[in-house]
Amino acid sequence: MPSVDPYDVIVAGAGNAALCAAINAHHQGARVLVLEKAPEEEKGGNSYFTAGGFRFTHNGLDDVCQDVMPDLSDAEREQMILPTHDRQFFYDTLMKVTRHQADEELAWILIDESRDAMAWLRENGVRFIPMYGRQSYEVDGKQHFYGGVNIEAVGGGAGLVTFLLERAAKLGIEIRYQTGATKLIQDQDYKISGVTVRGPEGYEDIPCRSVVLACGGFESNPEMRVRYLGPGWDLCRVRGTRHNTGDGINMALAIGAQSFGNWSGCHSVGWDISAPPYGDRWILDNFQKHSYPLGIMVNTDGDRFVDEGEDYRNLTYVRFGKAIMAQPHRTAVQIFDQKTVHRLRDEYRIREVTKVEADTIEELAEGLDINPGKLRATIDAYNAACGADADYNPAILDGVTTSGLSPNKTNWALPIDKPPYVAYVTTTGITFTFGGVKINDKNEVQDITDRTIPGLYAAGELVGGLFYENYPGGTGLMSGAVFGQRAGKFAADYARTRN
Ligand SMILES: Cc1cc2nc3c(=O)[nH]c(=O)nc-3n(C[C@H](O)[C@H](O)[C@H](O)COP(=O)(O)OP(=O)(O)OC[C@H]3O[C@@H](n4cnc5c(N)ncnc54)[C@H](O)[C@@H]3O)c2cc1C
Repeated sequence: MPSVDPYDVIVAGAGNAALCAAINAHHQGARVLVLEKAPEEEKGGNSYFTAGGFRFTHNGLDDVCQDVMPDLSDAEREQMILPTHDRQFFYDTLMKVTRHQADEELAWILIDESRDAMAWLRENGVRFIPMYGRQSYEVDGKQHFYGGVNIEAVGGGAGLVTFLLERAAKLGIEIRYQTGATKLIQDQDYKISGVTVRGPEGYEDIPCRSVVLACGGFESNPEMRVRYLGPGWDLCRVRGTRHNTGDGINMALAIGAQSFGNWSGCHSVGWDISAPPYGDRWILDNFQKHSYPLGIMVNTDGDRFVDEGEDYRNLTYVRFGKAIMAQPHRTAVQIFDQKTVHRLRDEYRIREVTKVEADTIEELAEGLDINPGKLRATIDAYNAACGADADYNPAILDGVTTSGLSPNKTNWALPIDKPPYVAYVTTTGITFTFGGVKINDKNEVQDITDRTIPGLYAAGELVGGLFYENYPGGTGLMSGAVFGQRAGKFAADYARTRN
């Protein structure tokens, strides 16, 4: 390797987790280099495409307004009801959706450091606002927030990334775009001593004392998707960046890192069937269609296949994304009537929607290429199974259920009988993968014998062990922020010991 001054910390990636790592490493006095495989015009990774929604522990509005959202006016505060989100609730939610498979140690680090990590983001220039449009309903004149993901970065994910990049620039942190890490270099005693990169001019070995891998999962690598998620996953859409192709995971495995977590699992959602193969930087996450709890979902045979009202969308949307993969032609149709259509989230009102509207169910079915008699029968059976709706309230689990169906719709079950009827056609869009490398309580990557690989740290999507089979909304960015900030600090501390 050339005898240039080694960087203290090289961070691979420039999404949320990586930028948190880079900024915090800099705060510890480290000389930091950020490597980003994407060109600058595709900056921000998956983090850019997000709504910027975070799930974190807090004690309600007064608490959040202290140091996370201090700009909220009194009038705005008066207008909103924000339920508390305590550590036990966060833990129970994570364990419920992952069927108690999430790693205990990682889970408690995430939960217990989430509140401080939000304040850290605010201190470092990220501004937050309530998530009015997507995570609250107006009930009795007030905005009632629900579901646990109630605060978003101003400007969503694009705003979050912009704030963090501005902060990194202000601190003088060097970022090299179009420069992907391809290989980790070690000394004979296993210590990390550099990174091989592939830049615009060719390959280069860059010396360093430590590395933070924060360069995403393998969701944009069709070959790895089929290998680990299973047949058919090569055909799904990708919701975000095309650059998360598993490089960080593969580089770490190549030097003996331990694979960890749910390698056959991923985050995926109902996504407009006409969406392009990868994320669109203008439409962002608006191809998603997440208001299915307000209606019903059928496949192209006209059959319902999930309990659309099983729980809040934040706790079911990922499992249902996978369920759509198993339907004929990987397609699901969401159907609403005029009783609920006005409540659909903003993403239903973009120009780029695959939508059919009709005055009768039969006409709707024809527009959808579904057998009209079959769809009529499904909706008649569903309507007949709906009971009293006096308690209907979309902001809580209202228990307004069908009975005698398989599957029932167990909350928010209103008959679909007020035309015109509106249908949206979706397929599966993958967000990120759950399998990754194993880290310990200092973010150090562990090898296959449970020993630390000296100088190697990881954060973000490529850390395995937090999410299994399902995922509680708003936890990806939170995990990136918590483990990113930690990785930056621990990597800088370690680099200091090698000076
Ligand atoms: C449409 C969409 C909406 C979402 N909404 C939310 C939400 O509201 N809330 C939430 O919590 N989560 C959300 N998520 C999930 C969230 O995006 C991820 O959990 C999180 O952004 C991952 O952050 P990260 O830093 O690990 O990865 P990324 O932000 O993807 O960053 C990884 C970076 O590494 C770069 N890279 C890849 N390979 C290399 C290499 N070899 N060398 C150098 N760089 C490399 C990539 O180009 C990328 O910039 C959403 C995701 C999508 C796609």
